[in-house]
Amino acid sequence: MFDTLSDRLTSVLQNLRGKGKLTDADIDATAREIRIALLEADVALPVVREFIAHVKERAKGAEVSEALNPAQQVIKIVNEELIGILGGETRRLSLAKTPPTVIMLAGLQGSGKTTLAGKLAMFLKKQGHAPLLVACDLQRPNAVTQLQVVGERAGVQTFAPEPGNGVGDPVDVARRGIDEAKHAQHDIVIVDTAGRLGVDEELMKQAADIRDAVQPDETLFVVDAMIGQDAVSTAEAFRDGVGFTGVVLTKLDGDARGGAALSVREVTGQPILFASNGEKLEDFDTFHPDRMASRILGMGDMLTLIEQAEQAFDQDQAEKAAAKLGTGQLTLEDFLEQMLAVRKMGPIGNLLGMLPGAGQMKDQLANVDDKHLDRLQAIIRGMTPAERADPKMINGSRRSRIAQGSGVSVREVNDLVNRFFEARKMMQQMAGRFGFGGGGSATK
Ligand code: GDP
Repeated sequence: MFDTLSDRLTSVLQNLRGKGKLTDADIDATAREIRIALLEADVALPVVREFIAHVKERAKGAEVSEALNPAQQVIKIVNEELIGILGGETRRLSLAKTPPTVIMLAGLQGSGKTTLAGKLAMFLKKQGHAPLLVACDLQRPNAVTQLQVVGERAGVQTFAPEPGNGVGDPVDVARRGIDEAKHAQHDIVIVDTAGRLGVDEELMKQAADIRDAVQPDETLFVVDAMIGQDAVSTAEAFRDGVGFTGVVLTKLDGDARGGAALSVREVTGQPILFASNGEKLEDFDTFHPDRMASRILGMGDMLTLIEQAEQAFDQDQAEKAAAKLGTGQLTLEDFLEQMLAVRKMGPIGNLLGMLPGAGQMKDQLANVDDKHLDRLQAIIRGMTPAERADPKMINGSRRSRIAQGSGVSVREVNDLVNRFFEARKMMQQMAGRFGFGGGGSATK
């Protein structure tokens, strides 16, 4: 699910990489591509419109972050907006103050309600609750037996009407189910209701009658993510006909575009609580808007990296280093500080592994090891403060002393010092060209 959307968004955002500055035209072009990607994934038009408007406004606004480059900033904005349409914070089930908590499931036939009842029961049981399933889907042949089977698999009890009494009254079963739960000390009741193939009056009325009889603490609208644009209209019909407090997305393991399911929260204003991604009872979990957004963005852990960069970024230190850049005054001490700031973010292999496309770079990654950085740090630490501040003074005999003290070869010390001078010279030239820094004279 969301693979195509994910691929599209990833490539749109990757096109931004390497750009030093984004013009309004760049942002407009990116926004257009994102818009197409969302529409092709079946995300509802009003949702797309608002999403794009926010992204554009924020990307063009002065949301300048010192820690991130322009491409990273756009990725961050898109990610945050995506989390926004998915509901923001993770929403947990709200439990009644006086048990039992009543959870009613509503949705079309085939949306996965009965399966969900089992999944939810098992999920809650693992958390120490004692759920009771109540079979109020008396319409679909075998629905009661099916609920009993999933209940057994989940290891919970099921309350069902006695067989052989005709169709029976679902409202009456619901009421008796609640009584049974109170009596047998179940702290949660999950009420499975009947669905139809399409939305109809009778279905809505029955669901509304059950709702009135059991006064649910949560009514969960169960929607099959594979049904495309119909997801939105079905959600609206259930919102108006029965009302619900939360959404459960099912069949996220399918290969449909799924964007409609992403619109449900924005269109109905109700949060997505759970997601199902398979037929087994274990294929189910709490829905986390942030995790889903980063999965859709297909950014690996790029987003984590962005967050860590922001956290590890030390404004003072960076300003000091930037001011020194153009003057040619950058020292090995600054170099060490920068290196330590990067290292704060974790092992370098992990950092690189978080970058998109890193999967294909495994071989190169294997060569970038922390040991190399450790050695560089050891060399700089083996220098006296005076040497770090003025690397020019590091002559031949000092180089042998440093090499010996830090357990490396003289060649490695030479390499480091030479590279440092080259880098400093290059930065100074760049600073001169782009007009930042003080433009002092090169010191080598
Ligand atoms: P109900 O009519 O709403 O009670 O729907 P069911 O629970 O009977 O589910 C309808 C079909 O969808 C069944 O074959 C389930 O096994 C299947 N199903 C339910 N949830 C999922 C899911 O998350 N992924 C997949 N692939 N199938 C599911």
